[in-house]
Amino acid sequence: MNPDDAISRVRQRIAEAAQRSGRSADDVRLVAISKRQPVAAIESLIACGQRDFGENQMQEAVDKIGYLHGQPVEWHFIGHLQSNKTRYVGNNFSWVHTVDSAKLARRIAASVEEAGESVNLLLQVNISSDPAKHGIKQSDLFPLVDTLLEEQLKNIKLRGLMTIGQRNANETETRTAFAGLRALLEQCRHRFGNSFSELSMGMSEDLEPAIEEGATMVRVGEALFGHRA
Ligand SMILES: *Cc1c(COP(=O)(O)O)cnc(C)c1O
Repeated sequence: MNPDDAISRVRQRIAEAAQRSGRSADDVRLVAISKRQPVAAIESLIACGQRDFGENQMQEAVDKIGYLHGQPVEWHFIGHLQSNKTRYVGNNFSWVHTVDSAKLARRIAASVEEAGESVNLLLQVNISSDPAKHGIKQSDLFPLVDTLLEEQLKNIKLRGLMTIGQRNANETETRTAFAGLRALLEQCRHRFGNSFSELSMGMSEDLEPAIEEGATMVRVGEALFGHRA
């Protein structure tokens, strides 16, 4: 499929899901997940007006970001972030979706402060308690936010929550998980303020239920780029 058709189709899916739930498509940010895709494929989507791209491996990401320097792109880190790789966050990323410990947040804060930048963070929640997944337990979320707010880390902004839907889950399980994350975000907003406004959930296979349950960011790879190497 050519990139124009692929992105039109995904934008259409987003618009229809938003409409079904009485939302505006403008309230849903499409993050194109370009992991294991060549730079040329990213350039094709930039030419279609796509601005947000996500990567999950730091070295691969840094190489691509360097290559595409100067292009109107905002980069999102969406993979499991090892603490020895946090030094690459400043200078490269506007968003990290996968923060799951205070230690990681502190190291990211140090990295972006050194770079003289700031970064938006999402806390990754393992909402379906899947043992195969990273992310904090639901019950650990408020204590983690309390800790981070107390420390007043500079140059990081806690913006919301992220989760990864379960593979092979049925529609009901998928929706229950997404609705659960949304309820958690609302509790966070209540306790910690309006900066908690973002919900990163939904991928190629499950972006519709995610948007219907309140996603503000969907992370879409294969539906945009085709199969990954
Ligand atoms: C790969 C990946 C995606 C995109 O998955 P697709 O099925 O290709 O849309 C989204 N989120 C995360 C965390 C990923 O690792």
